[in-house]
This record gives sequence, structure tokens and C-alpha cells, in this order.
Amino acid sequence: MAQKVVVFSQINKEILEKLKKKYHVVEINPKLGDVNQQILTEVQDADGMIGAGRILNKKNLSSATRLKVISSVSVGYDNYDLEYLKQKNIYLCHTPHVLTETTADLAFTLLMSAARKVVALDQWTKAGEWKRTVSPSQFGQDIFAKKLGIIGLGNIGTAIARRGFYGFNMQILYHSRKEKPEVANAFNAQYCELDELLQQSDFIIIAVDLNADSKALIRTEHFEKMQKHAVFINIARGSVVDEQALIQALKTNQIYAAGLDVYEKEPLQESELFGLDNVITLPHIGSATAETRYKMAELAYQNLIDGLENRRPKYTVNI
Ligand code: NAP
Repeated sequence: MAQKVVVFSQINKEILEKLKKKYHVVEINPKLGDVNQQILTEVQDADGMIGAGRILNKKNLSSATRLKVISSVSVGYDNYDLEYLKQKNIYLCHTPHVLTETTADLAFTLLMSAARKVVALDQWTKAGEWKRTVSPSQFGQDIFAKKLGIIGLGNIGTAIARRGFYGFNMQILYHSRKEKPEVANAFNAQYCELDELLQQSDFIIIAVDLNADSKALIRTEHFEKMQKHAVFINIARGSVVDEQALIQALKTNQIYAAGLDVYEKEPLQESELFGLDNVITLPHIGSATAETRYKMAELAYQNLIDGLENRRPKYTVNI
């Protein structure tokens, strides 16, 4: 009998078809009612799961009797209860590397758009307001040769450093839990304690994974340390920043602007951020290009079938 795979979010169609040829596939469908109840029911006799963007933990997985692998189509794995999955000997897999450059591109897109007021000026032009040349209040700020502070010099942080150093002649400062001399040397990057990085940087990008140490890593006291002209970018996870503190910093012009791809609660429906003109809000699209999403789906597929066929998946994070 074919093994059963539960697809818990929309995944690439081609990959879905490939899965259907080999396995008994059941798709969770939000239109059919409570998603967690559907998961709890379907996971009972499932061997594998694939998808992204859902919280999976003891509550909705407790009925599983033979689950071997959960393959997340994402690099971040903060939605999953790692300890529980380890206890149950269930592989949790993710998709690192294939989305690194695309997400770094988005970090720079946000940085440049916020620094040059691209979104506001686009709206202004389209509204027919361009009757004379822009006024000084619409001027942006230079990016070339400025100081770029990167919090979290992992895969994406490193790809951001490369763009800043080679593309924009920026001086790179970084903060991570461990110093990374081998990476830092390539970009002449200087290790800093967090406060020092915040005080010195013109542009700050946060690229940490969400974990117990990084939850609310940036709070009111941290925004107070930033320069008035600082531009703050978050492409990591919403919960690494105290969102209310960020809103206050933007409202009071404590900092110049922010560019956000991620939020404490997603999807972002109602937010004070929507009323602020010094913030750009994107709908969590760090890896959302057709090419990259395909590569992620392919890698997640490979992780899944390795787990199902009793090979250790290459990108398992908990076992
Ligand atoms: P990674 O290679 O694991 O890098 C994460 C880095 O964060 C590591 O270098 C780690 O440093 C650092 N870090 C963790 N906790 C820290 C803390 N408390 N203080 C300082 N540094 C800390 O992961 P990645 O591939 O670069 O991805 C990073 C995160 O970006 C993902 O986990 C995901 O949440 C997010 N992401 C978002 C999108 C999007 O669509 N917006 C797309 C892709 C990824 P140490 O090694 O020193 O511990």
C-alpha cells in the first residue's frame, strides 16, 4: 500500500503531481473548516507531511501513529515543536541555501526603497501630484559607502554583507552570537556588540533565526540607541522585534524609516503601521520568486522522500 502524505499548505503544482504519482496524498483545505482538526484527523495514519506556514505541535500531531517526516518548505522552523518531534523520532526538515540570495535581494530592495522613499514617491506621482520638482522633505538619503549593521551573520546575513560591500562600498558591522572571522574577513566586516552596532549603523538589517535568544531581541531601548537617520529592515521573523516599540520609534521619528517583510502576527490585517508613511510593509515575500519557490519545493520534496524511504534527509534540523 502506498505511504500517506499530508500536504498542509499549498505547494508547487508540479511537485504535488509528482507526489501524487508515488504516494497517497491528502491535502488540507482551509475551505473545508478547522485546519487543525483536519490535520489531527489526517495525520493519524500519515507517514509524511509537507507544507509551510502552519504551527505544528503536540496539539495537532498527537494522533499520529507512524509519522516519519515533516518537510517544511521554508528555511525558518520556528512554527514547529522541535522537542516534541525529536521525542517522537520524527524528522523535521527545512530548505536552507536555495532562498538565501533571493531573500538578501529583498532585504536590499527594502533598504533602498525606504532610504529613497520609493513607495511614497510612486504613490505621489501616480496621484498626479508631480507638478513641480520634489521638495526637500521628499529627499531620501545616500546609501553608497554608508555603514551597514547586520544582526545575524548567517547565510542570508552573509549574502546581504556581500551586496553591501561589493555593490555599495559599505562599511559592514555585524553582530551574531558567535564571531565569524572567516566570513567577516571576506567583507572586512567588524564584529560589534549589539548596542555598538545600533549606535553606529546608518542602515540596520536583522537576519537572525527566531529562537529563545532572539525573541524580542530589538526593543524600545534598542530603538533609542539608533541614529535619527537610521533605516531599520526586518526580513527575519516579526517576533524578533517588539512591534509596538518599532511603531513608537517610527511615530516619534526616533528613526528615519523601516522596511518590513515580517510581523508578530501574520497575515497582517489591521495595524498602526498602515497609518505611517515612514514604513514599507511587504507581505512576507522574502523568498517569493517563481524560481526560488520552485527550488524550495524541490528540496522539500527530496527531504520528504528521503524520510519516507528511510534515508536520513540532508536538511533535518532536529535529529
Ligand atoms: P542561518 O544561516 O541559520 O542564520 C541565522 C543567524 O542568526 C546565525 O548566524 C545566528 O548566529 C544568528 N542568530 C541567532 N540568534 C541570534 C541572536 N540572539 N543574536 C545574534 N545573532 C543570532 O539562517 P538564514 O538562512 O540566514 O535565515 C535566517 C532567518 O531568516 C530564517 O531563520 C528565517 O526565519 C528568516 N527568513 C525569512 C524569509 C522571508 O521570507 N522574509 C526568507 C528566508 C529566511 P550564530 O551562528 O552566532 O548563532
